[in-house]
Amino acid sequence: MPAKKKKKKLKKKEIERFKKKILAERERILRELGRIGESINQASEGSEGSKQSYSNHMADLGTDYMEKEKNYYYASQEGHYLKSLDQALERIERGEYGKCLECDDLISLKRLDVVPGAKLCIACKSKHEKRGR
Ligand SMILES: [Zn+2]
Repeated sequence: MPAKKKKKKLKKKEIERFKKKILAERERILRELGRIGESINQASEGSEGSKQSYSNHMADLGTDYMEKEKNYYYASQEGHYLKSLDQALERIERGEYGKCLECDDLISLKRLDVVPGAKLCIACKSKHEKRGR
């Protein structure tokens, strides 16, 4: 626990706002990513119990191909973004959202508005970028 009483935390209201934003963003991306799965998912559209035939079908189609396809999407920008949003949600759950992972300072709300999944404050982020990578 910090010695000083200075509370470096986003207001609950703000967090709620970002959470909604993140969830909406996440849904949008998932829907977008879901497009690749559409043709395959048609086979499993039936009942809940069709998971079995689903995987059989997958085997027919070639899981390798699907894996590659999936990895491709996860490696894409959207995929990275999705991951950052997921992690942001985790941080919300832990009450750590909005804090810079490096210097523990609050990330500006303006920045979070643009990059809801931001993990670093501007200062740390640009430090990283200068370091290359
Ligand atoms: Zn920082």
